[in-house]
Amino acid sequence: MFFDAVVVFAKKDSMDCLFCRIAKREIPADIVFENERVLAFRDIQPQAPVHLLIIPKRHIAGLNDITKADDQLLGEMLNVARELAKKEGVSTDGYRVAINCGANAGQAVAHLHYHVLGGRKFTWPPG
Ligand code: AMP
Ligand code: ZN
Repeated sequence: MFFDAVVVFAKKDSMDCLFCRIAKREIPADIVFENERVLAFRDIQPQAPVHLLIIPKRHIAGLNDITKADDQLLGEMLNVARELAKKEGVSTDGYRVAINCGANAGQAVAHLHYHVLGGRKFTWPPG
């Protein structure tokens, strides 16, 4: 019963989630990479010449929601970031991988995503 409730809750979460819906192809996106676990697509409002989002296909709301069991998945997502940065031609000049977590960081979509930004110079610290 408890587990049924958890499953129903998780399903509802992903039904309402924009990035889950992109992963399920219910909403179109410019997809640049996909495997069984990970999806990458272009940000709809790019903040740099290259602006990709890398997500786990499984719904994880954000960085506060990961566990040790996700170590491999998160590492895989970083490797996808590295490979796509190379493919997009921004590896040599440099690029930024960012995760916004929570309100103060400006997280707008509650499904974990790495931003991969490149093709221009970035400032530090970020605004
Ligand atoms: P964050 O503020 O870290 O949650 O980033 C969410 C990102 O998702 C923003 O950069 C948005 O431009 C991007 N975004 C929102 N809707 C879409 C969409 N339908 N397809 C692609 N990117 C999106
Ligand atoms: Zn989701």
